[in-house]
Order: sequence, then structure tokens, then C-alpha cells
Amino acid sequence: MEKKNLDWSNLGFGYHPTEYRYVANWKDGAWSEGELTTDATVTMTECAGVLQYSQSCFEGLKAYTTEKGQIVVFRPDLNASRMADSCRRLEMPVYPEDKFVEAVKAVVRANAAYVPPYGSGATLYLRPFMFGSGPVIGVSPAPEYQFRIFATPVGPYFKGGAKPLTIRVSDFDRAAPNGTGHIKAGLNYAMSLHAIVDAHNQGFNENMYLDPKTRTKVEETGGANFLFVTKDGKVVTPKSPSILPSITRRSLMVVAKEYLGLEVEEREVYFDEVKDFAECGLCGTAAVISPVGKIVDHGKEICFPSGMDEMGPVTKKLYDALTGIQMGRIEAPEGWIQVIE
Ligand SMILES: *Cc1c(COP(=O)(O)O)cnc(C)c1O
Repeated sequence: MEKKNLDWSNLGFGYHPTEYRYVANWKDGAWSEGELTTDATVTMTECAGVLQYSQSCFEGLKAYTTEKGQIVVFRPDLNASRMADSCRRLEMPVYPEDKFVEAVKAVVRANAAYVPPYGSGATLYLRPFMFGSGPVIGVSPAPEYQFRIFATPVGPYFKGGAKPLTIRVSDFDRAAPNGTGHIKAGLNYAMSLHAIVDAHNQGFNENMYLDPKTRTKVEETGGANFLFVTKDGKVVTPKSPSILPSITRRSLMVVAKEYLGLEVEEREVYFDEVKDFAECGLCGTAAVISPVGKIVDHGKEICFPSGMDEMGPVTKKLYDALTGIQMGRIEAPEGWIQVIE
């Protein structure tokens, strides 16, 4: 297989269509036989559930080339089960988890020419998603759905090193206490766009959302979970029923405990204690961990001792260990790395 001639290291994080995508349709209570197609467009009724009432959810994961030259995907079974949870909460049909994983692999295999080479820092980003494609006008779940996965090559997240971010405590809320914060629904992002555009206009990279009920506890940002490191080297992540369960964060907690021998805690984190932490990072598939250097709460600054030039030492160790596992330089826990044959 000949690789596409792309400038891998200079790709951004944008949509760069590849040859094949996977499509399956749900109608009359059953999924069609899914298939690969070269058609990158979707045609549907103007009255589709997704267009009227935002009935949609998505996933994000990456395929990449390991040190040994194998093309792999990282824990796609967790994306499958998380999407199943999203679908159940949104009254959408579940796409069978084993078929989801097979479909991910089929898309990667068909687009192998777009999987960036080892060492480029680039990856093939996979976007599984589902939406209500059948007509609804009275509020109800759509009668038909489409499940789709496309692939797009994306560049290294950090070009020239990871610069710590400056984030602000947001006055907007991300997720209601018994709402949809724990699932990967498009609607969670639609209503966060104003907050992120406003944050950028004010010179911040991201929003820190607090729990909307008491506004005393840390939840997450618009698209990444928090990890904190205490001054005595413990790794702490906030626990809340309205946080999206990041696969990266869950993997990092295992790496911290099992590979680095660190103490780990998933618990409620009060905003009041954030000033006492030594390091802070944001975790998600795109960047693995983005270091946070500063948090601004209505003019009051919290500056982490790790500073604004580089990742904190524990954050760096976590980053190196997880990316080492992903790239095949460090042995992975059973089942984390699935090879595309
Ligand atoms: C996708 C997402 C994350 C990160 O999850 P990963 O599985 O690590 O990519 C975190 N927060 C929100 C709100 C998300 O949508």
C-alpha cells in the first residue's frame, strides 16, 4: 500500500476527506448491512430529527502507526460502549458494539494510505456518529437513523512543544445536574459554542465549568477532563455524574497507578482547593494531555508552579507513558491496542 503524499507534520486539525467511510441505516426496527462507500455526502429529508431537534451523538478516536510499523487503534471498545450509552440516553437505536469496532477497523483498513507514518506526530482521526435521519415534527425520537464513520488525517496536536494553556472559570454552565453531560451528544457542544467563542475573545484558551447546582466543584472543560497533581505527587481527577467519561483520562489513571506507581483519586474536587495543586492538565483524544499553566477566576489568577513554559513533571511522565503505550514503545495493558490486520 502506497501512502498518500501529504505533509503529515504540517496537517492541522481539520476535515480532510479520505476515500472511504462506513454507513449503516436503521429503519423499521433494524440496522441495514453496513458498508463502505466513497460518497462523502448525506442526503435526507428537511424534517430529519437531527435537523429539527438535534438528535445526534458522536465519538472520536485515532488510528496511527506504531514503532514496529503496525496500524493500530486505541481502545475502540470503549468508544463503542460509550456511544451505546449516548444512544440509550437520546432514545436512538444502539449500533451493536462488536459491529462498531469492526466498522472502525474497516474504515482504517480501507483508508490505510492516509494513516500517517510513525514519528510524524500525525494520526488518522476517526469520527463515528449517529443522527436521526427520518422526519419528526411533533417532538419524538426519529423513525430512522444513520450510523456513519469517516476518517480524516490530523497533524500533531503540539507543534514545537506543548505550551501551557490559560483557562477561565466560566459563568456559563455546560451540563445540568440530571442532564446530558455524561454522554457525547452534539447538543452539549452546540450550547458551549458561545462560551468558547467568548473565552477566545477574552484571550483564554478554554472554559473551566463548575457544577451548575452549587458552583463550588470542578467539572470539566468543553471537551476535555481535568487531571490535577497534588504537591505530594498524587493524581486527582474530578468525579461527577455530569462529566463525560474521557477514555484518555480513564487510561491515564491506570497508567499513573500501574505504570508510574502513583496514588490516584477520583473524587469531588472543590474549586477552593485548585490553588493548592502543583500541576493541572486537560485530557482528551486530540492532545492526550494539554498542560494548564493558569486559571483565571473573575480576575483572580491561580498560577501553577509548573509555569507557562512547559508541562509539569508528573504531567510529562503521564504523557510520555501513555503515548509510549499507544506508539508501541511500552507494553500496553491487555486489549488496549487493537491491530488492524
Ligand atoms: C470527548 C470528550 C472528552 C474526551 O474524551 P476522550 O475519550 O478522552 O477523547 C472530554 N470531555 C468531553 C465533554 C468530551 O466530549
